[in-house]
Amino acid sequence: MWGYDMNAIKLMTNDDLSSNDKLLVKNKLKVISNDNYRVLGKNIKSNILIIDDDVDLAESIYTILDMQESEYNIKIASNIQQAKTLATSFYPDIALIDIKLGNESGLDFLSFLKSENEQIYCIMMTAFRETEYAVSALKSGADDYLLKPIKAEKLISTIANASNHQQLLYQKTLSENRFRAVFEQTFQWIILLDKTGTMLEVNHVALNFNSTRLKDVIGTSFLEAPWWVENDPLKSKINSMLSNVQSGGFSRGEVELLSDDNKLLTFDISINPILDDKSNIDMMLVELHDISQRKEAELKIIKYNDELEAMVLERTHDLLTAKMLAEKANIAKSEFLSRMSHELRTPMNAVLGFAQILKLQNQDLPEQSRINIDEILDAGNHLLDLINEVLDISAIEAGSLDVGCDEVPLNEVLDESITLMKPKLEERNITLINHCDNMKYSVIGDRFRIKQVLLNLLSNAVKYNNINGDIIIDVESDDKRLKLSITDTGIGIRKEKLSKMFQPFERFHDEPAIEGTGIGLVISKMLMELMGGSIGLSSEFGVGSEFWIELQYK
Ligand code: ADP
Repeated sequence: MWGYDMNAIKLMTNDDLSSNDKLLVKNKLKVISNDNYRVLGKNIKSNILIIDDDVDLAESIYTILDMQESEYNIKIASNIQQAKTLATSFYPDIALIDIKLGNESGLDFLSFLKSENEQIYCIMMTAFRETEYAVSALKSGADDYLLKPIKAEKLISTIANASNHQQLLYQKTLSENRFRAVFEQTFQWIILLDKTGTMLEVNHVALNFNSTRLKDVIGTSFLEAPWWVENDPLKSKINSMLSNVQSGGFSRGEVELLSDDNKLLTFDISINPILDDKSNIDMMLVELHDISQRKEAELKIIKYNDELEAMVLERTHDLLTAKMLAEKANIAKSEFLSRMSHELRTPMNAVLGFAQILKLQNQDLPEQSRINIDEILDAGNHLLDLINEVLDISAIEAGSLDVGCDEVPLNEVLDESITLMKPKLEERNITLINHCDNMKYSVIGDRFRIKQVLLNLLSNAVKYNNINGDIIIDVESDDKRLKLSITDTGIGIRKEKLSKMFQPFERFHDEPAIEGTGIGLVISKMLMELMGGSIGLSSEFGVGSEFWIELQYK
């Protein structure tokens, strides 16, 4: 049996076929046996089988053809049995068949050859007087005939003609193979339409989508194709895409198609015109490719984005609510502190005032009573300081504390503050060295608040200093800023605590003897910032600290 042998490719090294051509030809082999191979390709010698019981004639034909510069491979069979064997082993491209083969009919053999290989070129040989046989042979599928006696020139020209015909056929097969290879070896649908929209070619990817058969769609309208049958909206979309191309445009879009297993897939579809040499539309090329996965990924991203956006909105809303609640609570707290401080201040002033009067008007009180009155005054003053500080904080937080923006002679304010600190300095025998004693320097700020900050820093430099320690005051400035620093030789602050400085109620030392509330520095910082200045420190535990303030230099 003749048939296809896909493993035969290595043996098809005939003449000068490129390996790519061989691959293409492999798919379209017309004449292949199980153990022998015959390639239909370019520039190959035609195989000629001569079947004649007149062996002398056959050999003469052989001799004449063999002289044609080896263009042909030739074999002779003298009966049908031999001929059939050669047909299945020699794979003739051209057969020269005597119409009368003894008792057997050349016409029968012609039918046999054609049924095995419809492309074989058959030339019937018949006696000069029997031309009617030649005619019936042509009707039965013969391609040409030769009348006996055969003239050498006629033989040569007939065979040359047959060989050309076969070569052209092979070339055509080869180029068709190349077209098919591209057409079929792709993952996308390719459909070729004529200019009216009738399907000329449809590749297997498209056919396989709905198990459509090629013969059912070729020659039918693209609009009526099975992929959108009964889907009127889609049909009208395709129709307008086609019309657009027919009127000189190019169409591209997306369509959704239902697969055999009921999956809705999205395809990118494009329709391009193919123009003839006069730039008129000749055909149309339709391409579709499945973009479902990409679509799915896009949808997922959109979904995740939406979810994320919703989450962000929800979180923002939560945060805003929390912020509003916190602000509300903060305002309530500030209001409460402010009211409480006011309420406390009035009786406290009364307590202090009466204690003062008691002390001044009763000089002859017993020693213990005088000590007790001093205790009342001390504790009361401390409490009043605390109340004032809390009042300051709440006023700053509520934005109701006004600070001046005046030219302030800082050296004077410093001197006043040092004077106020004198008793405490003496109490602990601390030496204050003011390196800028005789200098005059002014800054922009609020005199009262600057003094409050300086007193706080100086009082800390005393409180957290060692007995007999030093306090050094320095000033430095550039054109714009003036920096005043107060350095002590006290207990210092541990490195890990520094980041918590200026936070309310943070105290960094355990010594219970050192009085304090942990809000003096917080207020100082707030005040400095309100005045457009800043405050900072450096400190070494066990060695001492340097606190500085910076304000606009005047
Ligand atoms: P208070 O002195 O009333 O506790 P402050 O706000 O003035 O509050 O100071 C906060 C804390 O910073 C103090 O408790 C203390 O631990 C630390 N501190 C402040 N000034 C100094 C300093 N000069 N030397 C060492 N520690 C200091």
